Amino acid sequence: QHRPKPIPQLSRKTALQRLLSTLAILEQRDGKLNMSSLASISAAQKLGGSIHGFVAGGNVKSVAEEASKVDGLEKVVYVENSDYDRGLPENWAPLLVENINKGGYTHVFAGHSAFGKNLMPRVAALLNVQQISDITEIQSEDTFVRPIYAGNALLTVQTEDSPKLITIRGTAFQAGAVEGGSASVEEGTDPKAPCPTEWVSENLAKSDRPELATAEKVVSGGRGLKSKEEFDRLMPPLADALGAAIGASRAAVDSGFADNSLQVGQTGKNVAPQLYLCAGISGAIQHLAGMKDSKVIAAINKDADAPIFQVADVGLVGDLFDIVPELTEKLQKE
Ligand code: FAD
Repeated sequence: QHRPKPIPQLSRKTALQRLLSTLAILEQRDGKLNMSSLASISAAQKLGGSIHGFVAGGNVKSVAEEASKVDGLEKVVYVENSDYDRGLPENWAPLLVENINKGGYTHVFAGHSAFGKNLMPRVAALLNVQQISDITEIQSEDTFVRPIYAGNALLTVQTEDSPKLITIRGTAFQAGAVEGGSASVEEGTDPKAPCPTEWVSENLAKSDRPELATAEKVVSGGRGLKSKEEFDRLMPPLADALGAAIGASRAAVDSGFADNSLQVGQTGKNVAPQLYLCAGISGAIQHLAGMKDSKVIAAINKDADAPIFQVADVGLVGDLFDIVPELTEKLQKE
């Protein structure tokens, strides 16, 4: 009779766990640590063993020193070279391979961000291992859980690869605070691999509002907003009244109501704020995949049968063009 292999639990510290060592890739931009990339460290803490952080770019020694304060880190390895500032995977991949081999790590974690998604498959190819994407749970040192089919099923993956190259879903592992730690800071090796790709320019959407992926509150608009003019008229005042980030459905993005960087969902950002308030969004599974882990979901929709109400904690059936301005006004008065 076939018996499934029992999955070892992480509750007891085994001798194996003490041999584990994780390299957590930290992202930085213009000398500032990207807080959402700290989720890799939280994930590594769940695994156990020693944890090193890795950061690269021009003038990153100060970033490495800041990262050394993150609780749980034993060491921060840094490579100071402005060639790594743009996060191009073509020269980052050989850089990581060199430092992974030098450190002899059992696990390498990066955020499931645009940077991590771009980089880790190339590193995996160079190391001849299978990358594991977007994990939400660590069951043991070789067994991980990841959502598939737009979050409708959970896949448990077991791997014998070494090292294990993994991207982390940030919303599943709360990033720790930059305090309490006192990691050593050490210079890594720089292979100075040639980069066949030239970075030309980038066009970033600038906003004073909280960052969508890590915001405590998110207000999102969908196709029900009807036009870019209406989206811009109704959503920013509501967001500002709540101190929230703005998100959008893919239909709203594709229709040009909102910038692509605001898309929430399977092919957009994953968010898990305390409050997700959406208006004019039907609740397609691809949208739910990016926001259903939010603590409180509030939805405004004129169709009482809209699927969004199946996941909403609070639902308001009605015309958003009446409800949103009224709600905004009441919140502004508070
Ligand atoms: P609709 O489904 O058109 O819904 C509009 C809603 O607004 C309706 O429920 C309607 O009742 C309501 N409404 C209209 N007027 C008003 C009003 N005056 N007052 C109140 N309510 C009103 N979608 C995403 O969002 N994110 C993704 O990442 C994503 N990835 C995808 C990946 C793939 C491979 C595929 C195939 C699809 C993906 N989609 C994604 C698209 C997804 O399937 C839906 O088409 C999309 O989410 C619909 O957006 P919506 O809810 O804004 O529009």
